[in-house]
Amino acid sequence: MIYLDHNATTPPAPQVIAAMLPVLSSLWANSSSQHGPGQDSKRALAAARATVARVLSCKPVEVIFTSGATEANHLAVRGLLAKAPPGRQRVLFSSIEHAGHLKLARALADSGVPVDFLPVLADGRLDLSAAAALIGPDVALASLMAANNETGALMPVAEVAELTKAAGALLHVDATQFIGKQPFQFSSCGADAVSFSGHKLNGPKGVGALLLRHGTALAPQTLGSQERARRGGTENLAAIVGLAAALELLGDVSVEAARVARLRDQLEAGLIQALPGTFVWCQSVARLPGTSYLRFGQLSVDVVLQRLERLSVAASSGAACSSGGSEPSHVLTAMGVPADEALAAVRLSLGRTTTAEEITAVLTLLPPLLAPLLQEDMLTAP
Ligand code: PMP
Repeated sequence: MIYLDHNATTPPAPQVIAAMLPVLSSLWANSSSQHGPGQDSKRALAAARATVARVLSCKPVEVIFTSGATEANHLAVRGLLAKAPPGRQRVLFSSIEHAGHLKLARALADSGVPVDFLPVLADGRLDLSAAAALIGPDVALASLMAANNETGALMPVAEVAELTKAAGALLHVDATQFIGKQPFQFSSCGADAVSFSGHKLNGPKGVGALLLRHGTALAPQTLGSQERARRGGTENLAAIVGLAAALELLGDVSVEAARVARLRDQLEAGLIQALPGTFVWCQSVARLPGTSYLRFGQLSVDVVLQRLERLSVAASSGAACSSGGSEPSHVLTAMGVPADEALAAVRLSLGRTTTAEEITAVLTLLPPLLAPLLQEDMLTAP
């Protein structure tokens, strides 16, 4: 199988699995227990927290382990909003946040919280002047992703941090697609809270963290004494140790980013050359190194994914499946892309395990399968 769906999830690194296995078999005692084995677990938890803090440049006390980015996102928004003063209750979300996060936005709006959406430009970048107009003195917090999971477009976190700071508001950043792919330091990123998930950086699933600037008031959303009473529930120690191992393995992120970007550019150039009508979104804006979001003319994404499946290539569509039908990606819709084009969107996402041989194989095998379909598509196009 050629796995080109690294933005959905990544394979756990062998070193991550090796770090987790002894925890599963031996360090199963509850880290809140006072007995010897419990204290062993507590020490392992503290060591993992220290590793996360060192790699991401934050204080150990700023790390709140969660079940992943979805929970961390919810904890940040609900938890920070609950502590905001009465005159500051508006929440801003970018219009291209992850689908789960936008569900939270809608749930908040339904419950009477004033919610506004920061628009994006046609090229996929955030509309900074619209953001500047929306970030006012009644805003509790803005929630913005560091990089979009569909297009890979990078968001202007530093600029928005300036705006929120000037308005006295907080900034939450969903860095799930960013950490591990681009250099990141919590201490200098400008955000007050940052979410991420282990499985997007070759770590385990079901674990992630919210990094929260020391001293920032947060209302817990699950009650209990763990994580300094900010996130109750017995810690998933094996997964947390795996997450720390995955972060430790990252090394110099920019070296791997350059390698993956070269492969991605080669893939795009090859497809554009072999298949006229191929269009890549966000190709000219700053974006994640391994993300390619494209369409082949207006060939239906189902047809393209079928052909990829035939070649044992795992990829994704940009459409959200909902009860039998599929809807155009909300990200492309926010960019003003017409529905028929958005419904042709295919996402190919490369990662640490992607090899040059795999890209060559896709470039050799895919065009002959798609070229005749594309020709037919272009002839029948209105
Ligand atoms: N935010 C972004 C940007 C994501 O890409 C994802 C995963 N697709 C999530 C949040 C949710 O992560 P998880 O499912 O691990 O909670």
